[in-house]
Amino acid sequence: MKQGLEILFSLQQNDDRIRELELKIIEIPAAIKKLEDERDGKVTIIENTKNKLNENVKAREKLESEIQQIKEKIKKYKEQMNKSTTNKEYQGFMTEIKFEEEQIGLVEEKIIERMLESDEIMKEIRESEAEFEKIAEEYNQIIKKSTQTLADTKTALAAALKNRALLRKQIPENLLKHYDHIAKNKGGKAVSPVESNFCGICNVKVRPQRFSELVSSDEMFFCENCARILFLKIEDKKIEEKKEKKKKEKKSA
Ligand SMILES: [Zn+2]
Repeated sequence: MKQGLEILFSLQQNDDRIRELELKIIEIPAAIKKLEDERDGKVTIIENTKNKLNENVKAREKLESEIQQIKEKIKKYKEQMNKSTTNKEYQGFMTEIKFEEEQIGLVEEKIIERMLESDEIMKEIRESEAEFEKIAEEYNQIIKKSTQTLADTKTALAAALKNRALLRKQIPENLLKHYDHIAKNKGGKAVSPVESNFCGICNVKVRPQRFSELVSSDEMFFCENCARILFLKIEDKKIEEKKEKKKKEKKSA
């Protein structure tokens, strides 16, 4: 029985591992998707500067069309000026034209300002692109690692499933039945390791009498609190020591 229990405990550990691996296989792709979304969201760094450039171009176009309008005005003034009959009228148009030409100069200055600003924005775009690439690369590295971890986890799961089949073959039918029944009702945990007088899962103390039976007997014991199969998980040496002690006690008794 003790031998069977040891394999049963191995089965429990292996089943625990299978559950862990299965959970990981569900969690990793979700984590990767989250990272990809986050990475792609960082592209707004570039989009924002590109929007700035668009605004700048629009503003320049508006100023260009302002100049066009002023030029039209000047053209009309010149036509009227040529038809003017008095010197006073002629002078009046001259003044208007001069004023409008000055306006063109002012608008042209604004255009130059915008062009300088555009150079700055272009620089910002290049910087933000470099920044995005750097961030994206960091994300890609983590994603690459996670993808590898996922592949490794799948391999590990395949191995653990194979191991489970092997372990189950070595365990007597009745023991397996107990195990499966308890595992089904106790969240997959059927075997509880006892390391120091306590049930390793529910943490309730194993009565001393029962504990010494657990140590000396070859029978199967269940936790009186959680009903799980108790597996004595104390170093062999300690058990031997206890057995020796018991023998001596018996002898002296
Ligand atoms: Zn228990």
